[in-house]
Amino acid sequence: MYDAIVVGAGPIGSYTAYQLAEVGFEVALLEEDKEVGRNVICTGVIGTEAFERFDLPRKSIVSEIKSIVFFSPSLLSINYTPSETLAYVVDRHLFDKELLQYAQGKGVDVHLGKQVHRINISRDFVEVESWNGTSFETLRARLVVLATGINYRLQRSLGLGVPASFLKGAQAEVEVKNLRRTEIYVGRQISPGSFAWAVPLRKKRARIGVLAEDKGAPRLKKFMGERFAGRIKEENPVVYQKRIAYGPVRKSIKDRVLAVGEAAGQVKTTTGGGIFYGLLCSEAAVHVLQKAFSKGDLSQRGLLQYERLWKAKLGKELKMGQWARKIARRLSDKQIDNIFKFVEKRASIKEMLEEKVKFDYHVGLISLGLKLLRLGKGK
Ligand SMILES: Cc1cc2nc3c(=O)[nH]c(=O)nc-3n(C[C@H](O)[C@H](O)[C@H](O)COP(=O)(O)OP(=O)(O)OC[C@H]3O[C@@H](n4cnc5c(N)ncnc54)[C@H](O)[C@@H]3O)c2cc1C
Repeated sequence: MYDAIVVGAGPIGSYTAYQLAEVGFEVALLEEDKEVGRNVICTGVIGTEAFERFDLPRKSIVSEIKSIVFFSPSLLSINYTPSETLAYVVDRHLFDKELLQYAQGKGVDVHLGKQVHRINISRDFVEVESWNGTSFETLRARLVVLATGINYRLQRSLGLGVPASFLKGAQAEVEVKNLRRTEIYVGRQISPGSFAWAVPLRKKRARIGVLAEDKGAPRLKKFMGERFAGRIKEENPVVYQKRIAYGPVRKSIKDRVLAVGEAAGQVKTTTGGGIFYGLLCSEAAVHVLQKAFSKGDLSQRGLLQYERLWKAKLGKELKMGQWARKIARRLSDKQIDNIFKFVEKRASIKEMLEEKVKFDYHVGLISLGLKLLRLGKGK
């Protein structure tokens, strides 16, 4: 009998297992893939705060983001270069592999190639049934943590919440000329209410992507064809697409079950980034679980503080992001251009941007954007 079984060895599942084992619990980690981090569709951008706050593998860092250039629909630009590095870009294969090794190093029992297809909850324990391709196996624990990313099948079967909707993230990794800084493009032609990005890696390689409410991959192909014409070496770059949870789940706990990471919709509604918010919530989960185990109360009531904690920390950010997206979706290209012109002319706004822009928290920036719109400069 384990204390906890974590399902899903993405970064959030592995980190949760690692922390639980570190504070003395017996933990098993089950992952359906035979190897973690392979073919992950992710740009790998993680703010510096995450590396300061959590034990993350620095050897997975492939580049740093020190500066971002924002492009308007008519290619007006705003350069944002704060005094300190904004974020790191990681190799997700290495990042995920290292986090898994951290967990193993703390004594977590890792089971790769095991897909969990059923969880039975009893009064005193949970039974987790998995399939390894040839046979079924059942493990028992006092509690199960779901860190299954965008696979919500287990949540549905247990009556837990799922995100109300999804965005689409499309990405290609290519060799590109003259890309020294991260570039962000906005406008209706790119993706209404959203954006496209180009993030330089090492050796002239870059991750180019689009976040969209509708079709991501066709938008990315069009974007690369138009804005990166002649700059991309590959003729027909392979584009990968994946859904991204958009908004928190209503219910992330029940008796002896807790969901964390993208499995609970803990993803920025502004940018679709999920690693930092997932790690923050994983930390909250471990904190609450320690108390719940010591009180011997793993009921929904005993786990309620987890849901309260993470929603208090991130609820406003997630809501404001959805609201900002709704407003941004209605802006015409001319309005966006006007905002760029307005900001470009005023040093004071650029200074305010420096102050308000926090890589992982966007409420301040959204409030500033709304002020600009109210000033009528977006008309
Ligand atoms: C194009 C794109 C770009 C992105 N860029 C960024 C970025 O730059 N920065 C950022 O922070 N985020 C980014 N994200 C989001 C980020 O990738 C996710 O938020 C993050 O991977 C979530 O981590 P997780 O551990 O919660 O889930 P995942 O990484 O999805 O891991 C879930 C794991 O659970 C396993 N699993 C699922 N079901 C089962 C089952 N039944 N049994 C066993 N195992 C199971 C899966 O195989 C997987 O390994 C991006 C997403 C996309 C699509």
